[in-house]
Amino acid sequence: MEIILTAERCLMSNYHGALFLGFMACAPKNLIPPKMFFKFICPPVKTENGKAVIAPYGTRKIEAALLEKGFNVAVIPPDKIEKYLKNTKIVGITTNDPLGLGPASTTFSGKNGLIKEESYNVFCFRELVEKIKEKSSAKIVVGGAGAWQLAEKKVMDEFGIDLVVVGEGEDLVPELFKRILNGEDLKGIFYGGAVERIPIIKGATIGGLVEIARGCGRGCKFCQPTLQKLRSRPIEDIVEEVKINAKVNKLVTLHAEDVLRYKADRFKINEKAVLELFSEVSKYCKVGISHFSLASVASAEGVVSEISTILGIPNKIQPWLAGQTGIETGSPKIVKEYMHGKVLPFKAEDWCDVVEQSFGICSDNNWLPCATLIIGFPSETEDDVLKTLELLDRLKDYKSLIVPLFFVPIAGLSGQKSFSSDDMKPYHWNLMIECWEHDVKWLKVLAKEYLAKMPAISRIFMHKFIDFVVKEGEKRLKELKSSYLTQTF
Ligand code: SF4
Repeated sequence: MEIILTAERCLMSNYHGALFLGFMACAPKNLIPPKMFFKFICPPVKTENGKAVIAPYGTRKIEAALLEKGFNVAVIPPDKIEKYLKNTKIVGITTNDPLGLGPASTTFSGKNGLIKEESYNVFCFRELVEKIKEKSSAKIVVGGAGAWQLAEKKVMDEFGIDLVVVGEGEDLVPELFKRILNGEDLKGIFYGGAVERIPIIKGATIGGLVEIARGCGRGCKFCQPTLQKLRSRPIEDIVEEVKINAKVNKLVTLHAEDVLRYKADRFKINEKAVLELFSEVSKYCKVGISHFSLASVASAEGVVSEISTILGIPNKIQPWLAGQTGIETGSPKIVKEYMHGKVLPFKAEDWCDVVEQSFGICSDNNWLPCATLIIGFPSETEDDVLKTLELLDRLKDYKSLIVPLFFVPIAGLSGQKSFSSDDMKPYHWNLMIECWEHDVKWLKVLAKEYLAKMPAISRIFMHKFIDFVVKEGEKRLKELKSSYLTQTF
């Protein structure tokens, strides 16, 4: 095989269909032994003739772009790759968080995190690159959402990576691969711009992920997708990808930074287009969503309710429609400074009301917000955090998960100081503990509903594991709080 595409091991699993467990890849790898983690929580993907039956969406996109240009390429899982490396000229790796610098890993693991141990995804990425280098002289090309972490010559040299592709790769990667196959000793960091035509995947994806729109444009200063303007894909292309996935997956996950803004006119929801999309794709299989914006929910209650009706939520397989969303703060000052676009069409001063109203709409329509908060914005004060705590109190009766993450200086704020566990003040710990208590309250309810579709042994293991995590987490959070506060004060 001339070209192999693969991904680090944590990305090459469907987590028994419980895709949100994928966040555990950001946890410190001493949480449970890697052997048990990869057996019970993150099992490998199935293969057919050595090729991955399902693969990360980004890997499938690059595969499609290469196949359309006539390249000989196969997607091989990392644990099967040795067999195929002999005559390979290029190995392309998809990675989300190779150095653990994303917000979730930064918060919970690594040198800045609450537990000073590398995460599963960092461990897997390093192991994969070492294995390829040991068994092959192929050029190693790394892309994906976490490629920015490697875009430095010193880091690339340390790993032995030849090329890093940052940004959209569908147009750029075939050009680079052609030059390599023509004998050019190509090395370095390459940046892909917005592609004109997003190719249609040729194989099924992890979680049945299907992209419906790319980019965001709301302008939050701490976020990468904000740099790309919103581009919605034609419904025919989306349906084509849904059909490909429906052959293998029971459920497809429509992906966009905000699924409600499909074909939107800036911040005005295009009700007709959104409902047409959901009606069309639900003809082929069950449908989930990846992300939604709280401002969109608050501005389009009718659309939220219609989507639940179209998808028949709740049902046995989908007790609710879960999606990631961002609260980030309860402080209007922080909203104005870093994320005024997130609130539109509402005003920054109204953000807490918008969030609560949106949680209420979600609750009424069986949507489950899995929301993030950001701790440690550069200009954050105690008063800002207290306002976020007040907002948390308003949300305590809504079924939801709320995860606090440390501020990471990327996009418009690159160059600012990262926030780390050593910067935690007593009010940050209070926020952490409030979030923990909120999540524990809902986690057992959600786990019972969500894990019902897992095989019995994994389900029993997960329930026991969740009980263990809740007990241990509570104990360790209290220990961490007192040890950090003793050191600091
Ligand atoms: S709304 Fe979300 S995706 Fe859009 S720019 Fe803000 S944080 Fe990024």
